[in-house]
Amino acid sequence: MADLLHNNASNTTLRRTRKVVAGPVTIGGEEPIVVQSMCATKTTDILATLEQIRMLKEAGAALIRVAVDSRRDVDALREIRKETKAPLVVDLQENYRLVSDVAPLVEKVRYNPGHLHHHEKEKSVKDKVKFIVDTAGSYNCAIRIGVNFGSLDPEKKGRCNNEMEAAVACAIEHCDMLDSMGFYNYVVSLKSSDPFAVIKINQAFAEKRPEVPIHLGVTEAGLPPGGIIKTRIAFEKLLGLGIGETIRVSLTLPIDKKFEEVKAAYEIIEDVKKGTFLSSRYTGINGLNIISCPSCSRVENASFVELAEKIRDAVSFADDHNISIAVMGCRVNGPGETDVADLGLWCGPKKVNLKRGSKLIGAFGYDEVVDALLRELKDILASRT
Ligand code: SF4
Repeated sequence: MADLLHNNASNTTLRRTRKVVAGPVTIGGEEPIVVQSMCATKTTDILATLEQIRMLKEAGAALIRVAVDSRRDVDALREIRKETKAPLVVDLQENYRLVSDVAPLVEKVRYNPGHLHHHEKEKSVKDKVKFIVDTAGSYNCAIRIGVNFGSLDPEKKGRCNNEMEAAVACAIEHCDMLDSMGFYNYVVSLKSSDPFAVIKINQAFAEKRPEVPIHLGVTEAGLPPGGIIKTRIAFEKLLGLGIGETIRVSLTLPIDKKFEEVKAAYEIIEDVKKGTFLSSRYTGINGLNIISCPSCSRVENASFVELAEKIRDAVSFADDHNISIAVMGCRVNGPGETDVADLGLWCGPKKVNLKRGSKLIGAFGYDEVVDALLRELKDILASRT
């Protein structure tokens, strides 16, 4: 099995992608799988972010993502860059022009094709991608084309039969775009909070574009140990097939425990190497499914992780029921990413918004929202019986 993990050049039947270079880190080819992670600290808290980078690096993260949303974040990133040599990554989110500010400071940028439709609607997606590619390329930055189920390109969604097809079509369209611009230093990620969807879309993409390195991730996998199990379901299967050149385990953890994401990633790699597949008995997500984000600089209230833990404990009586509860840390991704769940919560600075499906039930204080959630949950269970 070790050969499937890209460290045995003698086996010629293996998946061998092209190499992508992000500063001192090479992804793909015959390189070992690159483990990455993300800071959960406020980027403007430079000391805390540097400490988080140190902790993640010490745990073995080869690439570390930092959230940058504002001018103040860019200024903070500039200071952080002066103090650490750790290879850094920034997500461009909705503001693709941010690439001009961050590319000189980092080794890799990620853009989400679904986000390129939001601003400057009069400009074509291809022109926006060209701007990202030209800018990133001029600073030798690698790119990740990051497709996410929670924010799919609306036009692709309309044209394809289902979300999985739309996600793969979107990734391939963007690979073609970058290739046509002569830019090959990119990886692709296709993420969902459903590990079985992650398996299908990554297998489908790998079949169509076997030369492109893949970044694996199960988004909002949630709190350990459930979040690790969900991640294992996808990673064990895909890594076992030789698919996945870089991985990130996303877990809901307090800031001082974020290194556990990296530890979990290495444990999964080691188990796959040994042929130990801990998740093979799972054939679907049955019972209560708590989806929660890994938190990042955008978390609106430091109590988010504690709230997620409280919710996990309070709803455990419903473990055998097929219900999904999504808990998100901010207003950026919270409203959209909770739509798919039976019950969704997304955090504001003082209040937590509670939704049932896509309907907003109300905004509750951090000390009231668990009771409100339990009322809705019991009501759903009663209506089902
Ligand atoms: S939902 Fe918000 S807080 Fe949570 S990881 Fe995503 S952007 Fe960060």
